[in-house]
Amino acid sequence: MKRTARKLADGREIIYFDSDPAKVRDVEDTRDLPARSPASEMRRDPLTGEWVALAAHRQTRTYKPPAELCPLCPSGPGRPTEIPEPDYDVVVFENQFPSFAQGITAGSDTVDGMPMVASEPATGRCEVVCFTSDHNSSFGELSRQQVRAVVDVWADRTEALGATPGVEQVFCFENRGEEIGVTLHHPHGQIYGYPFVTPRTEKMLRVAEEYRAEHGSHVLGDVLAAERASGRRVVVESSHWTAFVPAAARWPVEAHVVPHRQVPDLAALTDDERDDFAATYLELLRRMDGLYDRPLPYIAAWHQAPVRTGRDLSWLHLQVFSVLRSADKLKFLAGSESGMAVWINDVTPEQIADRLRAL
Ligand SMILES: [Zn+2]
Repeated sequence: MKRTARKLADGREIIYFDSDPAKVRDVEDTRDLPARSPASEMRRDPLTGEWVALAAHRQTRTYKPPAELCPLCPSGPGRPTEIPEPDYDVVVFENQFPSFAQGITAGSDTVDGMPMVASEPATGRCEVVCFTSDHNSSFGELSRQQVRAVVDVWADRTEALGATPGVEQVFCFENRGEEIGVTLHHPHGQIYGYPFVTPRTEKMLRVAEEYRAEHGSHVLGDVLAAERASGRRVVVESSHWTAFVPAAARWPVEAHVVPHRQVPDLAALTDDERDDFAATYLELLRRMDGLYDRPLPYIAAWHQAPVRTGRDLSWLHLQVFSVLRSADKLKFLAGSESGMAVWINDVTPEQIADRLRAL
């Protein structure tokens, strides 16, 4: 894949990934964009030790494209978008209103002189990935070759963001559907480079470490072997990947897509594993969209190893889940989930698996 890095009018980076090695990407961004002023701050919750990012500048967006103009479509005559070129295969650019960014000038401090509440610049990077130039497509409608290209782009960005100063963990994800709060319908995902190891990853590493001390093996490796042996919750199985409903699923629809080999992140996948992922994931998405006979709103979240720590304890996997518990009913994160982080699921994982397997 050919990779061409350019700059947008306000200095943000845009990177074209082309299957045609002869493709030239030299169209200038002629828009009159306001200067960027990343002002993100993060504060540490003194009771949980977890960071909260404050992105107040996201509330006062000065540049808004007209409603009929999708900012993720290629540019046309007199219709400039975030992508200056008239077409693209896969394109990545820096988010205009990032939660985490480079070049934040604020220093480390405490909030109102409270020594227990640390405040730090939210250093990192947030990127948007457009999976295809086709506005009316979706990830599940991409060809295997297109999905493979997206995997290569995720791998490239995982390495690039991992090498970015201050980034400790790279998170590739897709929010799909209005029920998830998506306002742009163009098929796209996001990549966050966080300046810390996320709470969920920290917890999974701690559990993996304890499990290894007791059993001498990796907890996800053992789960994978047991799920494949039983087959009860397996939805799709291929030579390099298995997609199954986790035995303790939290969501009314949930599946984990796990490589058979322990790898820390997307960049460590072989060509065969990447090709095979495309086929496996497309089959899973086909079944998920068939569940309620409508495009399923979902979140697809890649769990990767942190950049510097716990890499030997990590096992890459994709978690795909939906808030939709019937064709028109949403699961809300109410008291138990939001207040105590204890999930109550109305559907058993075996029921979810049976429905996905029947499609
Ligand atoms: Zn579009």
